[in-house]
Amino acid sequence: MEEESKRKIWLSSPHMGGQEIEFVMEAFETNWIAPIGPHIQDLESSIEEFLQSGYAAAVSSGTAALHLALILAGVKPGDEVICQSFTFVATANPITYLGAIPVFVDSERDTGNMDPALLQTAILDRVKAGKKPKAIIPVHLYGMPAQMDEIIRIADQYEIPVIEDAAESLGSSIHGRQTGTFGLMSALSFNGNKIITTSGGGAFLSQREDLVEKARFLATQARDSAPHYQHSETGYNYRMSNVSAGIGKGQMRVLPQRIKQRRKNFEFYLDALSSLPGISFMKEPRGYYSNRWLSVILVDPLLSGGIDREKIRLALLEDNIESRPLWKPMHLQPLFQHCRSYTSGVSENLFEMGLCLPSGSNLEVSDLDRVVGKLSALFGIVTV
Ligand SMILES: *Cc1c(COP(=O)(O)O)cnc(C)c1O
Repeated sequence: MEEESKRKIWLSSPHMGGQEIEFVMEAFETNWIAPIGPHIQDLESSIEEFLQSGYAAAVSSGTAALHLALILAGVKPGDEVICQSFTFVATANPITYLGAIPVFVDSERDTGNMDPALLQTAILDRVKAGKKPKAIIPVHLYGMPAQMDEIIRIADQYEIPVIEDAAESLGSSIHGRQTGTFGLMSALSFNGNKIITTSGGGAFLSQREDLVEKARFLATQARDSAPHYQHSETGYNYRMSNVSAGIGKGQMRVLPQRIKQRRKNFEFYLDALSSLPGISFMKEPRGYYSNRWLSVILVDPLLSGGIDREKIRLALLEDNIESRPLWKPMHLQPLFQHCRSYTSGVSENLFEMGLCLPSGSNLEVSDLDRVVGKLSALFGIVTV
């Protein structure tokens, strides 16, 4: 019993559906063990079918997809790019790959994502300084869609392209429209901890077929069409492997179940923890649908009798349960301390109060019970 109760509970671990191994074996049997092959095309088609809008190119990571999007947005050294501050560092890093400069914009309270009002302020300010931003990157953090209607309206007003970081939000939607289809270009991630995985991988998305073709071209060393190897542009080795795409093909078949399960985890925590003093949850605004990639609780130590998110994290860790603070905002990172930012305190506050609880689609009810039990015990509440 003791052994059982100390089994590691991960924050978000890979969850195979069963068919992945067949597709991987097929890759071996047909010897398509290369960044070319039929699984890649099939994975792209299934992503396009799922999103019901736009085109997809399978690439080696979500970071690579964002890098390609910035290149295709025409970002050059010295340019400024507006980036959501409240995110994982991979959103901002590709900006610096290009010698461009991130300008960080804080979040609003409802979704935790880019604040449209602050975005407008930032654009006006940078335009006045003669540095009109070359692109805007909102993020759908933890699966919760950003306020895309407002963000796109403002971006359109200034004719600045939007690059959606949908790395965490595959399956999330706003009024039925999938995230990853709002921006001129978008990025998905299939890293090991995401809602579905190819072990490592991602997808470049766009509503414009020519941009997706161009992304594929750049991702395969920008080879001109000639029998000899001829190149007129700098290219990248960013294509996904056919072996990884086989995993992705299997994962796409179970994606709807994965979304359902992650949302169920959230509902479980919401039910079990809402009544604890100082614990709150971020609700979906009307018409918003989150894949609930990670379930987030907000902990207010002023209301919880001094229990803060770090106390909870350490208590869970004692029981071999992994949890994680929310992403530390980019404008607070040593790496970006020299960068301009437009802040309101919202993301800093979310960072201080937020904790991601175990959220994998492969968690069992007994795992969720263990998390809730440990957390409740910390609050002096005994569960059975
Ligand atoms: C995971 C992630 C990425 C990067 O994806 P990789 O496939 O790991 O390169 C980018 N942005 C966000 C918000 C992410 O969570």
